[in-house]
Amino acid sequence: MKQVGVVGSGVGGLAFAIRMACLGHQVQVFEANSFPGGKLSEFQINGFRFDAGPSLFTLPHLVDELFTLANKNPRDYFNYSRLPEVCRYFWEDRTRLCTLENFAETAHEIAKNLGENEKNVYDFILGLQEKYQIISELFLENSLHQSSTWLSKKAWNGYWNIPSLGLFSTMHQLHKKRFKNPKTVQLFDRYATYNGSDPYQTPATLSIIPHLEYNIGAFFPEGGMIAITQSLYQLAQDLGVQFHFNEKVNRILCENNQAIGLETAQGKYPFDMLASNMDIRPTYQKLLPDQIQPKRLLQQEKSSSGIIFYWGMNKQWDELGVHNIFFSEKYQEEFKAIFTDKTLSDDPTVYLHISSKVAPEDAPKGGENWFILINAPANQGQNWDELVQLTRERVIQKISRALGEDISLYMVAEDYLDPRRIEERTSSSGGALYGNASNNRFAAFLRHPNYRSAIKNLYWIGGSVHPGGGIPLCLSSAKIASKLFQENA
Ligand code: FAD
Repeated sequence: MKQVGVVGSGVGGLAFAIRMACLGHQVQVFEANSFPGGKLSEFQINGFRFDAGPSLFTLPHLVDELFTLANKNPRDYFNYSRLPEVCRYFWEDRTRLCTLENFAETAHEIAKNLGENEKNVYDFILGLQEKYQIISELFLENSLHQSSTWLSKKAWNGYWNIPSLGLFSTMHQLHKKRFKNPKTVQLFDRYATYNGSDPYQTPATLSIIPHLEYNIGAFFPEGGMIAITQSLYQLAQDLGVQFHFNEKVNRILCENNQAIGLETAQGKYPFDMLASNMDIRPTYQKLLPDQIQPKRLLQQEKSSSGIIFYWGMNKQWDELGVHNIFFSEKYQEEFKAIFTDKTLSDDPTVYLHISSKVAPEDAPKGGENWFILINAPANQGQNWDELVQLTRERVIQKISRALGEDISLYMVAEDYLDPRRIEERTSSSGGALYGNASNNRFAAFLRHPNYRSAIKNLYWIGGSVHPGGGIPLCLSSAKIASKLFQENA
């Protein structure tokens, strides 16, 4: 049995702690905050409950898998259901679209509302499944830093299919070639934002992302997204994992290029093995300042961050669903503003999530809890107070135009997050939501590995390392790291 120390209790840290406990090791998790979950947390204002970060739950089997691994019934801890309606889309010219659980129906809706050929849309969505299978086996489920990955049968299948994987064109180019209506192109381009990237730069390989929603489904956990954190935290405790909250790690202690323990304000803790769920940049800069820094990996472009408004509304709107998008009329400019000019466009796309549509207890009777996310550049010292104010006004105007009334009249509770605050609360470099951006075809290969022999006994998990950000990939990072640990043992 080994003594294992984990820095951070984000979803990746929790998953890794559970995996180590399942292998029979004694695990201690150190968390700077007073609560687990990192970005996956919640708060309340005036009777409105808000999930602070993620709102879209995909690939729930990756959460279930952790309970099964521990010989527990996932349903004793955690329940969720598939949403019959995925997302409602609004354009300024009053075009509307709703995507649905059944992808054949979605293809029909796209054909009806956006004038596309229904079979073309159907075939496109269906084709995502096969591509996803190849890409996920190669890029998402294994370390990219081991020869065994590249020599496996699955890898050879991937090489065979390279021309069809879209490494050499952008997501936007692929969609533009495939669909005739720019609105359909915009609809599918939007999925680049699911890992904080720019569809005009990110390789077409990432066009597989809608497969998760259209073919597998968008899910909603009973009790809200926070139920993911709560159930994993409970499972970890049941497996004997010990948590130290409000205990920030100041150093990872190394000797002879080997991690041997960690240090907090309370003292030094020796460990046989460590894992960092903290963003890689601050991990190197603050916890490992004496180690050689992998400069090229640390300098990769960060993913987008966000300005998030949490608004308690004392009215309900039938036109709105659980997930809603109000599209920008200047989509390419919006991404140029974020990734080139490092600011926000004057017509940003607005994402509005209302969990009280399916969980009425999340808002007082007759009200709705609005979670609004606007994609924003990572923090580089911009004037966020001014950008937040400007964006707030633009969002109010945009949604008011779509709903035909001044929504600000119904706002009875309010809070917000900006890239600065995200950085402060989770140590994510620049407040990036998804670690690094995937704005070039090498990005997948330039994420920090889950293990480097330069610092033995230290594993890397979470959104800033391979395979990337978002709940499913963070869970996957914990699985890959755990596999590497077993191979190294
Ligand atoms: P993090 O959540 O980054 O947590 C890291 C933890 O480490 C924190 O608790 C932090 O306090 C702790 N820590 C850091 N430094 C130290 C230290 N020195 N000592 C001790 N503890 C430390 N993903 C989706 O799948 N779907 C979505 O809809 C979605 N929407 C999002 C919306 C927003 C607004 C945000 C912010 C993120 C969203 N994401 C979404 C991304 C997703 O939340 C993240 O990719 C994921 O939660 C990151 O998990 P992680 O394991 O990297 O840890």
